[in-house]
Amino acid sequence: MRGFTTKALHTRYPKKDVHGALRPPLYDSVAFEFENAGQIQQAFEGRVPAHTYSRISNPTVEDFEQRMRVLTESLGVIAVSSGMAAITNVILALASAGTNIVSSRHLFGNTVSLFEKTLADWGLEVRYADMSRPDDIQGKIDENTRALYLESITNPQLEVVDILAVSQCAREFALPLVLDGTLTTPFLFKSREYGVAVEVISATKYISGGATGVGGVIIDNGLFDWRRSPKISTLSKQYGRFAFLAKLRREVFRNCGSCMAPHHAWMNTLGLETLALRIQHSCNNAMDIARFLSKQPNVHAVNYPGLPTSEYHAIASTQFKDRFGGLVTFELQDKEQCFRFIDSLEIIRNATNLNDNKSLIIHPASTIFGEYSLRERREMGVPESMLRLSVGIEDREDLIMDMQRGLESL
Ligand SMILES: *Cc1c(COP(=O)(O)O)cnc(C)c1O
Repeated sequence: MRGFTTKALHTRYPKKDVHGALRPPLYDSVAFEFENAGQIQQAFEGRVPAHTYSRISNPTVEDFEQRMRVLTESLGVIAVSSGMAAITNVILALASAGTNIVSSRHLFGNTVSLFEKTLADWGLEVRYADMSRPDDIQGKIDENTRALYLESITNPQLEVVDILAVSQCAREFALPLVLDGTLTTPFLFKSREYGVAVEVISATKYISGGATGVGGVIIDNGLFDWRRSPKISTLSKQYGRFAFLAKLRREVFRNCGSCMAPHHAWMNTLGLETLALRIQHSCNNAMDIARFLSKQPNVHAVNYPGLPTSEYHAIASTQFKDRFGGLVTFELQDKEQCFRFIDSLEIIRNATNLNDNKSLIIHPASTIFGEYSLRERREMGVPESMLRLSVGIEDREDLIMDMQRGLESL
């Protein structure tokens, strides 16, 4: 069995290039022509595999999808325009008005807004459960539940739950488990081995390789029997195991127009080639910075699943094979100290993205979570005194020196 990076580099383009180009070409074309009317009819009916229109599929996007499929050993992958588009498409395909999903309370900010505002207006109910307690999850499930939803590492709490336990719970109730694996990617976490039915990832982060474009992917791990999902079951007769992918490609994804731009797919394919190297380096840097911070008297708390003091250390260590991601959060005395710290840095940039090649820092309470009240933020685990650092791939000594600079400014 080939390793991750070998597969990322050597998965073949679906069709041999006419010029033998070693780097797959970028097909920035909307439409594709056919020899005759009969052929285009067959393509529309799905009887022969062919690209017709790039909102539905495109050769460059297909190349990225195929590589993701090989890397995840999944049934199929659909690349979409953003991480949020991935989440939206999956929920729209699985749930409808009058149904509910059971989710972790700790969620990416825009996901909360999607669930509680956008989709709530269309009649979807979100029930929050403590994902570390199967009894709590079970108590929230009823006959109208359509999926369980959680993130592999939550942000900024950096909570890691026993995903196998959650997927066993999902299986007992014949529900698909949907996991947002943005912070881990298939390099750190093999969602298929943990019973995750569908994984969604924001490719914008680690995968793009330098924050070059917004994008997302939907991965069907091929584990779930879609005959058990009320909205997908009728498609099972025609499409068998591919029913969920067909529901997306031939309806929800196509109709919502959430396609990935060919240029972004091309950049993401390049990103995949160095993904393992970059993540490994970012994890090593993050571990060193977390250790450094935990020795500083002015730092009140350091949260990183890689530290033995983290309550999530043991489970993260098994699930993610002793690599703990690139996010570290820590607390200073108050908001003023946080601002002073940020403003004194010379290398680490003040920006809202994460898992970029560059290290980025942000004060979550006044930015990403600014629209919530103090009490809501406390419930979400976002205190005023917390900074979130996304550790990049710079040279370790330069990062430590910059952190030192920040601490001296206090
Ligand atoms: C960034 C992010 C998203 C949204 O991705 P976009 O590509 O920005 O739409 C979803 N989930 C997590 C965990 C993220 O970090």
